[in-house]
Amino acid sequence: MTGMTSSARPLLNRRLAEFGTTVFAEMSALAAATGSINLGQGFPDTDGPEEIREAAVRALRDGRGNQYPPGPGVPELRTAVAAHQQRRYGLSYDPDTEVLVTAGATEAIAAALLGLLEPGDEVVALEPYYDSYAACIAMAGGRRVPVTLRPHDGAFRLDLDELRAAVTDRTRLLLINTPHNPTGTVLTREELTAVAELAVERDLLVITDEVYEHLVYDDAVHIPLATLPGMRERTVTIGSAGKTFSFTGWKVGWITAAPGLVTAVRSAKQFLTYVASGPFQYAVAEALALPESFFTGFRAEMLARRDVLTAGLAQAGFTVFRPAGTYFVTTDIRPLGESDGFAFCRALPERAGVVAIPNAVFYDHRDEGAPFVRFAFCKQIPVLQEAAERLGKLAG
Ligand SMILES: *Cc1c(COP(=O)(O)O)cnc(C)c1O
Repeated sequence: MTGMTSSARPLLNRRLAEFGTTVFAEMSALAAATGSINLGQGFPDTDGPEEIREAAVRALRDGRGNQYPPGPGVPELRTAVAAHQQRRYGLSYDPDTEVLVTAGATEAIAAALLGLLEPGDEVVALEPYYDSYAACIAMAGGRRVPVTLRPHDGAFRLDLDELRAAVTDRTRLLLINTPHNPTGTVLTREELTAVAELAVERDLLVITDEVYEHLVYDDAVHIPLATLPGMRERTVTIGSAGKTFSFTGWKVGWITAAPGLVTAVRSAKQFLTYVASGPFQYAVAEALALPESFFTGFRAEMLARRDVLTAGLAQAGFTVFRPAGTYFVTTDIRPLGESDGFAFCRALPERAGVVAIPNAVFYDHRDEGAPFVRFAFCKQIPVLQEAAERLGKLAG
């Protein structure tokens, strides 16, 4: 033992103290111990397209990407990202100065916050939020200011007055996520227009996490924030191959933004991973050029899965907020006579052999999130049918 470890000072620093352990580890351990179906963590149980896996094998064999790739990412991938943004959204980005490849969206979020924030800057973020946002804002010395999405007509919606009221003279940026994890909300053109007008009026930067851009259902449409007036020059848009192509282990993500923003993000990124995922970058370049039938097929597959799980959850007695996007569904457990999502999720493996995540972990206002529980539906249909059957026990 050194003097340092025996002193009264805790080892984990003050910035990270509140993020000690994640509920995902606890719930995944519970799933393993009880043989439960794990609908907690959001990873697909089927790998992405065979030809894209083969593209990665080819890159490895041909010696492409086995050594440090270029800092901004391999040119093939940066070009493919720019072409994707142009083709789908009419957004034009220069692959050399306006695209940066990252180690997944996770590093993009971290590098953007570390590169753009000064200590004390406020970040307005939608609550509930993806778990890395709070930790990365803290690591950057920023202050998070949550704006809570609340149930309204069957979906979690943004209160535009609350959003406006959250912005102060210390606000540096807005951190947006659409389609939204964990609620499945896809922000409407009206909501996004209000966000854009606010950003322009108060001269704010915007980071928008659009990793579920291809997973929107029914009549929902994904509108990139950068397409709205005044936004292209102030917006860092984040995408990822993990969710779009079902290769979450490859950790290939990217940002598109104006040159000054890319430079700021790259300044932080170069000291995090510097580079990552060399051969996979070439494979993802090919994936982004897949025909439209891949994207529509993937969406249809996820939609079918959503419908199996949401029907099962409704049958079991949950209030279901039918997601318009992502591969998560948020439920309200109060019709089951429950009100504490943490207690409910800790007991669920024993009661029904299914693991879920209490949404409260995604809130600063834990009370607001208490009755909500999230299930992932990026699993094979028979797995979801079995889960639905097991959850049926709760109704009886
Ligand atoms: C999964 C996820 C990420 C992380 O993406 P990676 O590319 O795996 O790092 C970021 N944001 C949201 C909202 C996610 O759900």
